[in-house]
This record gives sequence, structure tokens and C-alpha cells, in this order.
Amino acid sequence: MSEIDTDKLNEIWTNGWKNVDYSKCTTMTQVFEHLRNSYLESSQSVNESEKAELINRLDSFIDRWNVDHQENDPELCERCQSWAYAAQYCEHCIRHFFKKNFGKWTSGNDEIDKIIQDAQLNASCPDMVVEWIPFSDFEEVKHKIKGHRSDIYSATWSKGPFDKFNPETHAVDRFGRTNVILKKLENSDKMDGEWFKVITEFKLHKLSIFATAFYGITKDPMTQEYMIVLKQYDYNLHEYISLKHSKFSWYEKIYRANSVLSKIEGVNASSWVHKNLQPGNVHGNLHPGNVLYEKKTDQFLIADLGLYQHAEDYYESLPFIAPENFGCDE
Ligand SMILES: [Zn+2]
Repeated sequence: MSEIDTDKLNEIWTNGWKNVDYSKCTTMTQVFEHLRNSYLESSQSVNESEKAELINRLDSFIDRWNVDHQENDPELCERCQSWAYAAQYCEHCIRHFFKKNFGKWTSGNDEIDKIIQDAQLNASCPDMVVEWIPFSDFEEVKHKIKGHRSDIYSATWSKGPFDKFNPETHAVDRFGRTNVILKKLENSDKMDGEWFKVITEFKLHKLSIFATAFYGITKDPMTQEYMIVLKQYDYNLHEYISLKHSKFSWYEKIYRANSVLSKIEGVNASSWVHKNLQPGNVHGNLHPGNVLYEKKTDQFLIADLGLYQHAEDYYESLPFIAPENFGCDE
């Protein structure tokens, strides 16, 4: 396996999207075809591993899009005899896998268990799943900051999140060791599961491609309070601009600004997101610290969606996750 130059891949990935001529590509199928051709043509500047990574990134994006939007023709899965919209896996086989494992875990709370089970039965791809994670699966748990009604920790998740469907074992394989952020919600052990239902529903919403990811929940064994297990991102918007702005051309700056705005617009397009929010404040607490950047996929995403839905009750004073606590320690 040759080495993968992530910066170079991000540039090729972004250029592919930038060069889409939407007057010619009027459907997403045409956009995807354009991208595939442009990535295959870039083969002179990338090695075999990089080319495979680019195509795999595109195929995963297309599969999730197709399962969520169901605009193309489904294929019959020979194993489960269901019509599947994804090409790299069968979304129904993934749901069967999770269902088979329902008896192997419990959060100890029937309401939370039911929310997780419902989410898993509606999973559209292997790596967008919500799960119950025993606290013993975390190592190197370090307290980072105390907010008004939450505490933020960094940790390493030994098994890591679900990643890819394995066609030989018909199981969803895990990614392996992953650094994560744990956000402990004060007194969440005494609340009903509504807060969890809200953020889980959003994760399954097709517009959640615009939002940062969370993997599931765990429980602080000492206090019994719930902790949301969040993906760790590379920079927030403020840090990203400080680092990069002097290196970008005007075109690049406008392209990046547009990229952030399109995510905000995408989130706003969901009527689900609007519910319970205050006028003029769609996100509830949107600021540069809540717009996060992921180097691997070269994209900006909106953080903390759902947590501010309950502006009138216990989440009113939940602080945003301080930017430095999302960043890598290195
Ligand atoms: Zn199937």
C-alpha cells in the first residue's frame, strides 16, 4: 500500500466539486458521474491507494445520498431479498445486523434503548449509527473544561465507531481506536429521554450531512449522568481562518465562505430544525466555534444541532463546546 497524501486528496476532491458545471449537470446522478470522471482522470497525479480512497469517498457519499433520497432505481439484495438503494452495501442487511444484536447491550434505561434501536433500524449507512457505548470502552478520559451545565472530556474509544459493512461476515466492522469528545450533561440521569430523541432524530435526518457527527451515548459510572460521544474535528472556523486566510486566493476565500454558508442554508432548509427556535436565531447558538472543519473530508460542518432545540428548558444554558476542546491535542 502506498502512502496517502491527505492534503493533496482534499485538493483534488474539492476541485472536483468546484468544477461541476451545474448548467450541464442538472441531476445529482450527472454530478456524481462528472466527479467520478474527474477523479479517475486525476490518476496521473495520485498513486493507486489515493485513487482508491478518492473513489471510495465518492461511493460512500453517493450511497448515503441514494438511500436518503431514493431517486435512483433500487437493486434486489440477494441475501435479504429487499430492494436496496446503496451499491456498496445493502441498507437492510445493515439494519438486520443491528437488530440481531439488540439483546447484547442495554443502557439500563428502556426509553433510551428504544430510541437507539429505532435509530439503528433506520440507519442509511454503516458509519452513521447511534449506539450505546459502555464507559469501560473509553481510555485516557481527561477532563478538559467545565461549562455551566456540562463537562467536556477528551477520551480514546478503544473499539471505535462502526465503519464498513463486511460482505463476507455480514457484520458492520469497527474503525478501531478513535479519539473522541465526551460531553456530560448535568442531571441528565434525572431527565426523560426527550433530549436524546431530538439529537438522534436529527442525526438520521437526511440534512444531517451538514452537521457534525456524534456516535452515541455513554454514562459516567460515578454520577450516572449521560455523556454524548462526539466526533473530534480538526479546527473551528475561527482557527481555520487564522491559519489559512493568508494562503488563499480571493477565489478560494469566496469558495470557502460559500461552503460555510451552504451548510448553514442546508441546516435551515430542514423544517425540523426550525421547531422551537427563537426568531432570528435558527441554530440557537451559532458562532465560529460551532462551525467545525474536518481535514480528511475538507468540509465545514455545523456543531451542537439539537442541543439548543429546547431553548426554554434545561438546554437553555448548555454552553457550546469551547473551540480548543474540539481540536487535536497535538
Ligand atoms: Zn440485504
